[in-house]
Amino acid sequence: MHNAYLQTDEWKIIEDRWSPDLHQGSESIFSLGNGFMGQRANFEEQYSGASLQGSYLGGVYYPDKTRVGWWKNGYPEYFAKVLNSVNWIGLDVYVDGKALDLAQAEVKDFYRELNMREGHLMRRFTAVLGEHTVMVEALRFVSMVRKEVGALRYQIRLLDTSAKIEVRPYLDFDVINHDSNYEEKFWSPVSENVASQKGVVVAKTKKLDFKVAAAMRYEVFQDDTPLTLYPETKRAEKFVANAFVLEAKAKTNYVIHKYAAIVSSFHHPEADLSALADQIASQARRIGFAQLLQEQSENWAKRWAHSDIQIEGDPQAQQGIRFNIFQLTQTYTGEDPRLNIGPKGFTGEKYGGSTYWDTEAYCLPFYMASAGQEVARNLLIYRYKQLDKAIENAAKLGFTQGAALYPMVTMNGEECHNEWEITFEEIHRNGAIAYAIYNYIRYFDDPAYLLDYGLEVLIAIARFWAQRFNLSPAKGQYVMLGVTGPNEYENNVNNNWYTNYIARWCLQYTLQVLEQVQAMDSSRAEAVLAKVRFRGKEETELWQEIIAKVFLPEDQEQGIFLQQEGYLDKEQILAHDLPLRERPINQHWSWDRILRSCFIKQADVLQGLYFFRDQFSPEQLEKNFDFYEARTVHESSLSPCVHVVLAAQLGKLDKAYELYLRTSRLDLDDYNREVHEGLHITSMAGTWLAVVEGFGGMQVKDGQLHFAPKLPAKWQSLQFKIIFRKTLLQVHMTAAGTQIKRLEGPSLTVEVDGQNHTV
Ligand code: BGC
Repeated sequence: MHNAYLQTDEWKIIEDRWSPDLHQGSESIFSLGNGFMGQRANFEEQYSGASLQGSYLGGVYYPDKTRVGWWKNGYPEYFAKVLNSVNWIGLDVYVDGKALDLAQAEVKDFYRELNMREGHLMRRFTAVLGEHTVMVEALRFVSMVRKEVGALRYQIRLLDTSAKIEVRPYLDFDVINHDSNYEEKFWSPVSENVASQKGVVVAKTKKLDFKVAAAMRYEVFQDDTPLTLYPETKRAEKFVANAFVLEAKAKTNYVIHKYAAIVSSFHHPEADLSALADQIASQARRIGFAQLLQEQSENWAKRWAHSDIQIEGDPQAQQGIRFNIFQLTQTYTGEDPRLNIGPKGFTGEKYGGSTYWDTEAYCLPFYMASAGQEVARNLLIYRYKQLDKAIENAAKLGFTQGAALYPMVTMNGEECHNEWEITFEEIHRNGAIAYAIYNYIRYFDDPAYLLDYGLEVLIAIARFWAQRFNLSPAKGQYVMLGVTGPNEYENNVNNNWYTNYIARWCLQYTLQVLEQVQAMDSSRAEAVLAKVRFRGKEETELWQEIIAKVFLPEDQEQGIFLQQEGYLDKEQILAHDLPLRERPINQHWSWDRILRSCFIKQADVLQGLYFFRDQFSPEQLEKNFDFYEARTVHESSLSPCVHVVLAAQLGKLDKAYELYLRTSRLDLDDYNREVHEGLHITSMAGTWLAVVEGFGGMQVKDGQLHFAPKLPAKWQSLQFKIIFRKTLLQVHMTAAGTQIKRLEGPSLTVEVDGQNHTV
């Protein structure tokens, strides 16, 4: 399915006609961000049509009081929401008193372009307003270099008559969140200051007291000549504006450069915010639009130099993968370990902008290989910083002695999900957090991380599992009851294979790390153990006993692991037998029917086989893949990628490619009909996994990089770059073979299809 409304281009996303019905989807697709803040592709000028206004700041959130039908003890009091913040792009335009509003005007042509190579958004249109025809070109970006700066250039040209054009640049905190539980506004006013060609507004969140200051500066040119203005100033609660009138001639360009600075108490002392915002905005104006734009494209060029993927022979796949890399890079840049990656990034409200297991299970590999060690390490430190909260979270549920249960959904370490089957039962997330530590260590060979941070997290997670398993008197084995696996189309199951397997692995890995750190630096290791009140043998002996006796359900006859006990009692139907009109089943079936069916939302047993693919024989992988993939409906965007990696490894290239198509253009082609809510940022990292770990067959084994290249038939070549430890490699695959080049850093030995090569 290719969405004909977007043009195919290798470096750009292009919409070349005005489709108000698709506008909200485009607002998501054309979003901009810089890891600190993000901005949906809302219009600068007023727009009375359907729109989801969205301007988000990393780390600034709102704890919206929980709303559930039936309260259960242990539910969190609030759901942390990403907060729609100040509208800094706003700039209203009136031509001879008539508002420029694309929902009202006749729009003659319309063109919107997201330039992914250089990191900016451009829009051009011609609109008829009564007797006047006006052409506008607006270009904006959120600076990757100056994380608190956004800038735009807005150019107006009357095509055939002269007119009075009134322009009102403004800043507005009086905005709403569509997903507010009680329909309240989340911002209270603090101060508004406005003068000629500048303004500052400070507002604070009604709860938690996050303070944010936004400042603007602007300048106006007639063609290239700066104009002297005598604007009127306007001020209202949470709002400042200027208004000025241009006696505009036909066929002349009037250009406004607007600079905005947005600073928050998340990063700066509260008292300085207003002055700081003003100073940053004024500095941006001094630097000037052209220079800021130049910096922006240079910065993006550097990022692409490490992260680009080139696919020859399939322009749509090329555009798809670049779009994914672009959005991932805009979402998380890794300077601040208190920030993370929401499933929708800065592109919408859904999922509250919070952190899920998606980060560790799906996103980490992309950031390790494309952004490097510091960025990846900050993603891990995020969880380290929240360890105390994870211990509190476990304590609320009755666990003791330093056991940690990380939240399913969080902003600051506290759980904010409130469906019992997920909040209390989808505990496998703890496993992914431990796995990410292992993944990072083997990738960067940074064992010091274990002493600095990792060990404490691993011990707390191991303690949780040791308490969560119980010895079944009937089986004489350790079982785990009442869980939800990654497949959320089953709840409250016993002995979910994936959860039991990863929990056992956590215990094994923690024991191994304990030995490793003691050998590395016994006095530092002792200090960490004393800090966490480690009880030595009393703990490790129990862990060993559990490891030896974990119950892992399987069906030996079919050679498969059982997703959970009793899975084979279900009526066994295959996904391809489901009538198309009943899919997705989550929109057509009752929840009860879904729970009783054998259908699988996303990789579950296969998630485990993907993580630990070294530990299973090709035959085991294949039997489980064939059995479970056939029952999987892929109704989570996180699902197809894991299957691509396994299918490619098993040589099922057609299957791998078919599933790849479902992930790579998920949002561009709006497969799930929900792009208007925001982009699937975390599943974009899954697309990257599908390319690099799937078609590239990349894996780290015994401290060495391995590739097992499998080029899809449709592609002439695939080229990607990988930062591995201190080396930057370029891998180029064609039907004739694979070439690996070292672009930077020390030489290393890599294995390609079983053969070692020194690069
Ligand atoms: C998936 C979860 C995921 C969440 C956020 C859900 O639909 O089942 O695995 O963590 O979305 O992406």
